[in-house]
Amino acid sequence: LALNSIIDIKGSIRVFCRVRPFLPTDRRKFHEPVTAELEKIAVKMPGGVKEFGFDRVFHKEASQEDVYAEVKPILRSALDGHNVCVLAYGQTGTGKTFTMDGVNDQPGIVPRALEELFSQSSLNELSSHTFYMSMVEVYLGNIRDLLAPKPTHKPHEVSSRCNLNIQSDPKGLIEIEGLTEVQISDLGKAKWWYNRGRRARATSWTHVNEASSRSHCLMRIAISRTRDSKAKAETSKLWMVDLGGSERVLKTGATGQTLDEGRAINLSLSALGDVIASLRRKKGHVPYRNSKLTQILKDSLGFGSKVLMLVHISPCEDDVAETICSLSFARRAR
Ligand code: ADP
Ligand code: MG
Repeated sequence: LALNSIIDIKGSIRVFCRVRPFLPTDRRKFHEPVTAELEKIAVKMPGGVKEFGFDRVFHKEASQEDVYAEVKPILRSALDGHNVCVLAYGQTGTGKTFTMDGVNDQPGIVPRALEELFSQSSLNELSSHTFYMSMVEVYLGNIRDLLAPKPTHKPHEVSSRCNLNIQSDPKGLIEIEGLTEVQISDLGKAKWWYNRGRRARATSWTHVNEASSRSHCLMRIAISRTRDSKAKAETSKLWMVDLGGSERVLKTGATGQTLDEGRAINLSLSALGDVIASLRRKKGHVPYRNSKLTQILKDSLGFGSKVLMLVHISPCEDDVAETICSLSFARRAR
């Protein structure tokens, strides 16, 4: 049994890296610092070349289809009853939201995953699935319900809707108290609710980009599965998470609120790294309690669940220091 669970854990955490293409606004130098191979990233630095291994690397020309092809098998296991976590990590501006949501003509993982869930479940005649969607934003340790029926409050106004509690039942299953859960019966509804949640997140901030850099956005599909009409339904969870920007705050000369926000993000990301690293090392104690982020994801980040960390990096010389930080984070997780 012990051996099996070791194999299971090793096999259930995947770390991928995606390099953003150059944007017209990037300052380009003659030499490009980042080289991508199939399972390796090399970064040219003043002191030499540093290399980092991954389960899979997507170079800057990789398409949304290329990325999705590698993610799909992990998503499908959610339909078979596994808890699944897909997490987009990286410095602000490196393409986390591009990978997860995508843009009009290049849809990302979330819309493709939703499509997959409905098409796969309709093919399956042996069991029937019911899907429920929830979305939360975690900001400065507060959990805010993005699908709440009433207009949501600004994240810094602490109220019942934006300061939800996390509950753990005796079996270790996690639930967020009072969280809105909408049943989604088809793809159109699923996309509608997802977009509503994204809008609820953005409208409470002065600038749209603020929200994505200073908070985590977590979407959950609870999948309820019945094999025959009499049996009790089993539930699994699929989480798709657009994490807050991983850039270090002190460097940017931030003060006051911005500094607190940056610290909160840094702390929760390092708590996430600690949890994944300790799962990897098969240590008995996994430090879930250190952040709201890891508490929420607790039952989907452990034994029997599948975790995919997508680490995003910039191709630019100016970002090399942050790139090395992100790659070092990934190395710990792997
Ligand atoms: P983040 O969410 O990490 O802050 P974004 O997803 O907003 O970053 O990406 C920053 C910018 O780069 C956006 O304009 C986005 O469209 C663009 N971008 C990121 N990744 C890619 C990619 N793989 N191909 C094309 N454009 C990309
Ligand atoms: Mg973003």
